[in-house]
Amino acid sequence: MRDTYLPYGRQWIEEQDIEAVIQVLKSDYLTTGPAIINFERKVAEYVGTEYAVAFANGTAALHGACYAAGIGAGDEVITTPMTFAASANCVLYQEGTVVFADIDPKTYNIDPSEIEKNITDKTKAIIPVDFTGQPAEIDRIHDIAGKYNLIVIEDAAHAIGAVYKGKKVGSLSDMTMFSFHPVKHITSGEGGMIVTNNKEYYQKLIQFRSHGITRDSALLKDNHGPWYYEMQFLGYNYRMTDIQAALGVSQMNRLNQFVSRRKEIVAAYNEAFKDMSQLITPYQHPSSDSSWHLYVIRLKLDQLTVDRKAIFEEIQKRKIGVNVHYIPVHTLPYYQKIGYQKGSLPNAEKLYEEIISLPLFPAMTEKDITDVISAVKETLEKYTK
Ligand SMILES: *Cc1c(COP(=O)(O)O)cnc(C)c1O
Repeated sequence: MRDTYLPYGRQWIEEQDIEAVIQVLKSDYLTTGPAIINFERKVAEYVGTEYAVAFANGTAALHGACYAAGIGAGDEVITTPMTFAASANCVLYQEGTVVFADIDPKTYNIDPSEIEKNITDKTKAIIPVDFTGQPAEIDRIHDIAGKYNLIVIEDAAHAIGAVYKGKKVGSLSDMTMFSFHPVKHITSGEGGMIVTNNKEYYQKLIQFRSHGITRDSALLKDNHGPWYYEMQFLGYNYRMTDIQAALGVSQMNRLNQFVSRRKEIVAAYNEAFKDMSQLITPYQHPSSDSSWHLYVIRLKLDQLTVDRKAIFEEIQKRKIGVNVHYIPVHTLPYYQKIGYQKGSLPNAEKLYEEIISLPLFPAMTEKDITDVISAVKETLEKYTK
């Protein structure tokens, strides 16, 4: 038995990250200074887009993207239930209507044919989520978006560093969101970003993150003098600090290393579990090269004498920080209160009963990996029928 608790995910901070933050603390700008520009440029260059806009967190970035896409009252936006609440909440912030489309039972990503079934004349956008780091079926989703004239906002909170048909996630959709929460691939403490090639979206996002205010002479309607600015619409204070951005820049230098380490851990899990009849390892679509935010095992409950909760608790007793991603969003109490129905999305609801996320983060040691593998194997063997 381990003597320390192994979390399911955590950041990896090194001396150079700390040094980068200290440099900002000693500089003239703690917020909206050069580190923000550097971070945005670095991420845009990495994914290959023209523009990037940093936000205080990924949720604020999604809110900005919904604003830029023009989502408002009466508009419907289609997303997956198998995600964190933020992927849907951002639509509600804009007074839009969330429509959930069920998942593909193999990839656990949103099923493009379910998207198409849910399109009405009110549909304005699709928010696919690259669940666990595996890109959604982007080509099929973009075909549908093209056919019905919809905007695609890709929630790639799990998927910086992932590749789809040879192209980096971030370069594919109208707007793509990354999150820099400490459990994600790279961190800025809290932080998020939208990448895009669309200049109009870019300008709206920049303004949205700072109260709707602009000083850009090309955008001003009037000009009283050098102090002059205009608040042109109701935005928010969703700015990221330079302290956070400096950490983000420093972390970006190790992103590729983080992703390869995640892939090594995944290979060890896949190898260890490949002959076990009690679980299903994560299926990978041939078009996608996941960056592996999460490793989700699916229990074959018909082979086991107990339910997921008992398996989960037994593994956790061994100080292995398993987790469950996610409780389907439409079943959360708030979504139930506003009228969404349990039973409406059977693939997502069934998956939820059977999944466990195993620890996966680049700083895991070889011993951490073998501890996870033994805990899973011993627990499942103990409860095999
Ligand atoms: C983490 C996450 C978000 C929100 O990002 P924050 O930076 O925590 O606000 C949104 N969608 C998904 C799928 C996430 O995992």
